This record gives sequence, C-alpha cells and structure tokens, in this order.
Amino acid sequence: MNKVLIVDDSSTMRKIIMRVLRQAEIAVDNVIEAGNGVEGLAALGANPDIGLILSDVNMPEMNGIDFVKAIRSSHTKEQLPVIMVTTEGGGAMVNTAMELGANGYVCKPFTPDSIRSALEPYVG
Ligand SMILES: [Mg+2]
Repeated sequence: MNKVLIVDDSSTMRKIIMRVLRQAEIAVDNVIEAGNGVEGLAALGANPDIGLILSDVNMPEMNGIDFVKAIRSSHTKEQLPVIMVTTEGGGAMVNTAMELGANGYVCKPFTPDSIRSALEPYVG
C-alpha cells in the first residue's frame, strides 16, 4: 500500500491511527492527513494515487457520511476502499456510511489487531 489518507478532525486521533498502523506492521509508504471531508476531497484531488482511506464519522464542514457519498460518485469500492473509524455507539451513522459505500469500519479505541483485520483485505 503506497498512499493512505487519514481524515479526522482530531490531530491527536490522526497521530494515534498512524502509530497503530505502524504497530500493526501495515506497510504504508506515505500518509496524507486531512481534518474533514472537504480537506479529504482536496487531498484526493491532489493525490490521485491514494489507495486507501481511513475516515472519522463526526467532523465539521463535511462529515464522514457525506465524504463517503462524494467519493462513491467518482470511485468504486474496489477502486478506492474507505474504512470508517467510529466511536462506540456510532452504529447508526456507520450503517449509513456502509449503505453509501464504505468498505468497513473499525471502532475506537482500536488495537493493532483490530486495525489489521479491518485493513487486511485491502493492504498488500
Ligand atoms: Mg471527529
């Protein structure tokens, strides 16, 4: 996996996700960060070689639901997998995201194991 896009309005959470990716020994050459869906779409436009997206659900400007919807107007699930990062109790929002084309989800707080099993189908 060369390029991964992490979208979360918490920079702390983005750092945690990056650390857990390393701990899970998921080979990532390049991580791009964005603070909401609008920034995420801009990052994707600037980096069309992004191969996987990890996205928070609750974010200002554009939340994870609208972000997934926007991505699926241009990329299929096979072309660009999107994994939602959710808090416990965010089930209804995650279900909506899955209906709109998210490939999977991982619940916070997550472990290297839970990240690995969520991403395994998509990372080489
Ligand atoms: Mg958030």
